[in-house]
Order: sequence, then structure tokens, then C-alpha cells
Amino acid sequence: MAADLNRGASFSPAAESGARARANLIGGKHVPAAAGDTIEDLNPATGRVHATIPRSGAADVEAAVAAARAAFPAWSATSVEQRADLLDRIADALEARVDELAALESADAGKPITLARTIDIPRAVRNFRFFAGAARHDETGFHPMADAINYTLRKPLGVVGLITPWNLPLYLLSWKVAPALAMGNTIVAKPSELTPLTADALGRIAMEAGLPAGVLNIVHGYGHEVGQALVEHPEVKAISFTGGTATGRRVAATAAPMFKKLSLELGGKNATIVFDDADLDEAVPGAVRAGFTNTGQVCLCGSRLLIHEDIWADFVPRFTEQVKALKVGDTAHPDTQVGAAISQAHRDKVESYLRIARDEGATFHAGGGRPRLGEGLANGAFLEPTVISGVGQDSRCVQEEIFGPVVTLQPFSSDEEAVALANGVPYGLAASIWTRDLKRAHNVSAALDTGMVWVNCWLHRDLRVPFGGMKESGVGREGGRWSLEFFSEARNVCIRLE
Ligand code: NAD
Repeated sequence: MAADLNRGASFSPAAESGARARANLIGGKHVPAAAGDTIEDLNPATGRVHATIPRSGAADVEAAVAAARAAFPAWSATSVEQRADLLDRIADALEARVDELAALESADAGKPITLARTIDIPRAVRNFRFFAGAARHDETGFHPMADAINYTLRKPLGVVGLITPWNLPLYLLSWKVAPALAMGNTIVAKPSELTPLTADALGRIAMEAGLPAGVLNIVHGYGHEVGQALVEHPEVKAISFTGGTATGRRVAATAAPMFKKLSLELGGKNATIVFDDADLDEAVPGAVRAGFTNTGQVCLCGSRLLIHEDIWADFVPRFTEQVKALKVGDTAHPDTQVGAAISQAHRDKVESYLRIARDEGATFHAGGGRPRLGEGLANGAFLEPTVISGVGQDSRCVQEEIFGPVVTLQPFSSDEEAVALANGVPYGLAASIWTRDLKRAHNVSAALDTGMVWVNCWLHRDLRVPFGGMKESGVGREGGRWSLEFFSEARNVCIRLE
């Protein structure tokens, strides 16, 4: 019988008072933090505590790494077919519980249920299926010489550490767990302390699907405690980290001197560039989607909208009208498009940028305040979708990642100026450009300092392509063979034939 994903461990007093207690998953067992401490987990749309998680520390990481090390020899000796079949079984089990998982994700992250049901959870299912297929079809190199042959072996790394953020909790965790398992590694995962529930569910589902004990371990807690201990642990051979740039810098500073493999997927301040020849019937809704999906809390969100001056007067009112029409509020309602910010503290941070914009004399075309919502949502971390113009390129609103429902508008008059504005920030994750001119699309894409460019679309994803950023948006690529290569060590074997 399938486990209740909301099942709590009986050891926590909080379980009795309504907030369900989650536990760490270590060596196939659900256990509390060694020190017995817990952290409250809030629903940001209601402000209510709906779960508790262990506040783990170095001792818990030590136990999880020991379990992962013990499981490694047997797991790494399984065949690709066995591992791929298991990933497919996990995908099937996740798919069978899409609604349940979507409800957990929506409540934990304050995101609209429809978004969780149509994007977050189905994408997690697809990640497992995709990497099952990718592993089955993986190839390694063969380089013949006149007197020898070379072939490349790909060996698992051992215990790998996976650290993930709160904005797309299961989606991003599965993006790392699936390739790490496919390549024969064992895992210690550290999900965000703000959104731990679907990671907990994944652990239970993976065990039910037959994943051996110790292959996937999940340790909950704060980043500076359990995350830091995981990065510091000498037996953790690689760290795959997705999160903010400041945290990524700290992770890199810890891991680099230990020569760990490191993948860093960090922040973004992405430009959406609308040229004067764009099809505005597509570009306007495309820019709205890029700006406000997941309440603007996607690293790829187009939070800087660059608009050719000749279409400004046409574009801005149409864009603003569509932004004002976005439905904000009750995350459980199927029509809701914009949910809450992840926390009150994060909303305060976003609002601090709105104050900067006001001090700089910006024009607010939409939003700028807190929406008035009904009963039960008064303590939610909601913000109106906000559109601002009149902030210069040097403004902190343009230079820094706000990571909320805020889009700045800037005009440009030439392709060169658009590229200069787009590139003129410390980040280099993604861009979206809207034009009917193929030559321009090519030339501008080549000139942008970003890891990804979408032309006449945004977040159109093929899981085989390289995903990642340049500059302060990160180091390395995930996706397809890039993930399989990250989670394995290439070893060349040269056999002399004469
Ligand atoms: P964050 O950096 O605060 O936290 C990310 C994870 O790191 C969390 O699990 C956190 O507990 C952990 N952590 C914190 N301090 C740590 C430490 N010292 N050592 C190890 N781990 C530590 O990020 P967040 O606020 O959870 O997520 C939002 C950020 O993530 C945004 O900047 C966003 O752009 C970025 N992001 C990037 C991508 C991408 O693919 N490039 C995808 C999603 C989110």
C-alpha cells in the first residue's frame, strides 16, 4: 500500500498539534535530527505553520554520508538497465500522485496549485523518465590511433551532495537526483528549509519504488548548518548546488580547495528584448509569462524588459493591461496565476527595491503594493505584480536580482544598445528576444553573455540541451549529457596494439 505522503513521525510533539513532523531519511530510516531540534515550516500564502522538519547539523550529515558510503558499492555495481528501470518506477510512482504532490508543493511554496499541477510535478516526473532514457542511450568516446585504441570509461563519483532552493523544489531536486542515480552515485540531498515537503515525499516514494536503503539520503535543516557541513564533508565527492549567487560563492570557497567537482546554478537578472519588428500579439503575453511565472521567482524570469523605442507607446499599455489582469491570491484556486512570495522576509526584500525605485523617481505602471485579499490570506506574503519604468541601468533595481513579481522597463534605439543593456549586469543566465528578423535573432543571440537564449519564446525546454549560466549566474552546465558527465568521472583507457 502506498504511504501517506503527509504521514508524520510520531516522535514530534508538533505532530499532535496539527503541524506534521517530517524526518530525515538516512540509511532507509526516517529519523529526527541527532540534537532533537526542529524548524517550523510555513505556508507563505496563509502564514500558518503546516509542518516541522529536523534542524540537522554536522552529526546528521555524518550519519547520512556514512549511509551513502555503505550503499555505494552495491548501487554502483548495478547495471544501467537496473538503474534506469528504477528511475522509471520512481517516475510512475510520482505520476500516480501528481495531485497529492502538487498540493504539498503549492502549500509549501505559496505557488498556484495549477502551476504545481501542470509544471512543477509533471516536470519532476519527466526528469526521472528523461534521465532513465538518457542513461540507457548514453555513449562514451572511442579514439583509435595507428598503434593503439582509446576508450573512455565513465565511473560514478561516490557520494554526491545535492543542494536545492525553494522556488521549484521537486522540479530542481529531481533534475539532480535522477542523473546522479542514473550514473551510479549515492546521494545526500539537502532541500531548502523553506520547502522541504516534496523532498520528503520523494524519499518515501523512491523507497517504495525499490530504491535500496542509503542510496538516497535526505537531511533537512538550515543552509549554514547542514548545507555547510555537507559541502565541507571530505567524503562528499561532488556538490551540485542551485541557489543564490552569494550562497554559491560561499559553497565554491569551501569546496574548491578540496578539489570537489562543483556545479553552480545561481541567480539571474534576465533581459527580455522586444525589437521593433516583433509580433506583439506573441511578444506581449510572452513577456508577461517571462516576468511573472511563479510570482517572478524563477531564476530564468525576464525581470528586465528592454523595448525598442519605436514600439514603446504601443507595447507598454498592452503589457501593463495584461499584467494588471493577472489573478493574484488563493493558491488553491485553479484560476490563480500569481501566488505569494516565499516568505514575509522575502516580500520585505522585494519591497525594499520598490522603495529604491520610488526614491529614484520611477513610474509605476502596475502594482507597487500589497493586494487586498480575502479572509485567510491576510497573513500571506502577497505582492501585486509590479511594472516600473524610469530606473537607469545603474539602479539597483536593474543590477540586482529582486526575485519577485517586479519587471523593469527600459527603452533602446539600436541592436547594439539592446545588447549593451542586456549584458550590462553581473549576471549571465538567460535572455529572451522577440523579433521576426532571422539575421538579427542570430547576431543578437551570439552577442549576448548568457548561457541560454530563447527567440520568440521563453522557457521552452528540451531536457537534452545545456542549461546554465555565465558570469555570476554560475559555473558548469546541467541537462542531458552535461548532467551525466558531471555525475561521473571520465577515465581514458589506452591499449597499445603493437
Ligand atoms: P539560497 O542560496 O538562499 O539557498 C539555496 C540552498 O542553499 C538552500 O537549500 C539553502 O539552505 C542552502 N544553503 C544556504 N547557505 C548554505 C551554505 N553556507 N552552504 C550550503 N548550502 C547553503 O537560495 P534560495 O533563496 O533558496 O533560492 C533562490 C535563488 O536560487 C535565486 O537567486 C535564484 O535565481 C536561484 N536559482 C537558480 C537557478 C538556476 O538554475 N540557475 C534555479 C533556481 C533558483
